[in-house]
Amino acid sequence: MKLRLSFHGGAGTVTGSRHLVETDATRFLVDAGLFQGLKKLRELNWKKPAFDPEHVDFLFLTHAHIDHAGYLPRLVKDGFRGPIYCTRATFDLAQLMLMDSAKIQEEDARYANKKGYSRHKPALPLYTADDAAGALGFMEPVDYGEWLEPAQGVRARFLNAGHILGASMVEVHLETGERTIRMVFSGDVGRYDMPLHSDPDPLPDCHFLIVESTYGDREHKSAPIEEQIGEALIDCIERKGTVLIPSFAVGRSQLVTLCLRQLIQAGRLPDVPIHIDSPMAVDATRIYSRHIKDLSLDDSLNDDGRIRLFPNNVQFHRSVEESIKLNKMPGPRIIISASGMLTAGRVLHHLKRLLRDKRNLIMLSGYQAPWTRGRAMIEGKRTVRVHGQDVPIKAQFIPISGLSAHADRSELLKWVRSAGSSQEQPDTVFVVHGEPKSANAFAETLTKKLGTRTFRPNLGDSYDLIELLDS
Ligand SMILES: [Zn+2]
Repeated sequence: MKLRLSFHGGAGTVTGSRHLVETDATRFLVDAGLFQGLKKLRELNWKKPAFDPEHVDFLFLTHAHIDHAGYLPRLVKDGFRGPIYCTRATFDLAQLMLMDSAKIQEEDARYANKKGYSRHKPALPLYTADDAAGALGFMEPVDYGEWLEPAQGVRARFLNAGHILGASMVEVHLETGERTIRMVFSGDVGRYDMPLHSDPDPLPDCHFLIVESTYGDREHKSAPIEEQIGEALIDCIERKGTVLIPSFAVGRSQLVTLCLRQLIQAGRLPDVPIHIDSPMAVDATRIYSRHIKDLSLDDSLNDDGRIRLFPNNVQFHRSVEESIKLNKMPGPRIIISASGMLTAGRVLHHLKRLLRDKRNLIMLSGYQAPWTRGRAMIEGKRTVRVHGQDVPIKAQFIPISGLSAHADRSELLKWVRSAGSSQEQPDTVFVVHGEPKSANAFAETLTKKLGTRTFRPNLGDSYDLIELLDS
C-alpha cells in the first residue's frame, strides 16, 4: 500500500502552497498557490512542477488567497482537468482574485516587453484571463461539513478555519486496506475572538496534521482595536482632516469597516463619511455581505432583521472617475483603499495628496514588508517616493496592530490542542507555510508542549506516511 505526501510549495516559505498526496488508486493536491515576493521565489512559478498536472485527479482548495489559489490557472493550462473542490464563499472570492491575478500577469508581461528587460522575446504572461476563466470552470463549490467522496477510498470535508471568508481546513480520510488514515490540512488558521470571522473549528482527530506557521514564532500582542485607533481618529476628524487607511482588499478592508461601524454605534466616533475606494474591495465587500450568515457575526449587528456589516454612510468607489472625485472632497472623512503596504493601486494617489497636510492621518494596518513605503514610514523616513516624486511626510501616522488574519503562536497551539484529549492529538505534524525561523520555532513549541513528532519539510521533500505511521 502506497501513501506518500510531498511538498511542492509553501515549504520553508510562506507562499506557493502545494501539497501532493499519492496512493495506489489516486493522486490529489491540496492548494495550488503562487510563489510571491523575492524574484528567486517568483521564478519558481515558471518551473515545471515535479508532478505531472495531467495525472492529478482532483484538488482541494482551502481558500482564495493567491498564495494558495494563484497557481490554479497555470495548473489547468498545463493539463490538470480534475474538479477543484472549495467552499461556496471561496468560489466567489476566487473569481475575483484569479481574474485580478491574471490581469497582473498580463500587465507584467506587457511592461517587460515595453522595457525589453525579459530574457524571453516576447515575454509571456504566466497565465491570462482566459486561463483563469478556464480554471474557474473546474471549481466545484460545496458546503462546510459536507462529506465528499472524490475517489474510491477517499472521503473529505471542509471545516471553518476563520482567517478570511470561505477559508477552510480539509479533513481527509484515506482507506488503506485494514485501516483508515486521517489527515488534516490546516490551510491558513484564523484568530480567536475576532470581530468579523468566527473562531476556527476544533481540529479533528487525525494521524497527520499539515499546519501553517506564518506567525509560528510570534505573538500578536496588542490593545483592542478601538483603543488603538479611537483617539487619533477622533483628533483627526475634529481638525477636519482626512483619514487614509491603506488596506488589503479582501478581509482587511471589511474588518476595518466593521470596526468603524462599532465605534460609530458606540457613540465614540462621529458619523463621518467613509469611502471604500478600490474596485476589488468593493466587490469583496459585496461577497462578504452575501455570505454574511456564514460569518457567525454578533447579534448586535442585526438591524431591522437584517445583519449589516457597515455603517450607513459608506460610499463605494468602483470606477476611476468615482475615485478621482474624492480628490476634491474636503475632510473630515475616512478613505479605505488598497494596497495595504502602499506598494501599488489607488491608495498611492491619495497618499501623495494627503501626506503633505498635517491635519491628515494615515493608519497603517498590519505587516509592512521591508522594501515597502509602509515600512519606510514606520522607520521614520521624512519622505516617501510616490510616482517618481519625493513626498514629504507631514501628516500624522500610526501603525495599528492586531488586525492580522493569521493565528499567532499561542493561537496555533490552542488550535492544535483543540483536538481534545492527548490521545486525540495528531501523531505527526508537518509544519509548513512559514519562513524557516517561524516554522522551526513552532515545531519546537509543539515538541516541547505536546511531545508531538514534527517535521519541517523543504521544497520537494516527500514522506512515506505508512512507514511513518508504523515507526
Ligand atoms: Zn491566507
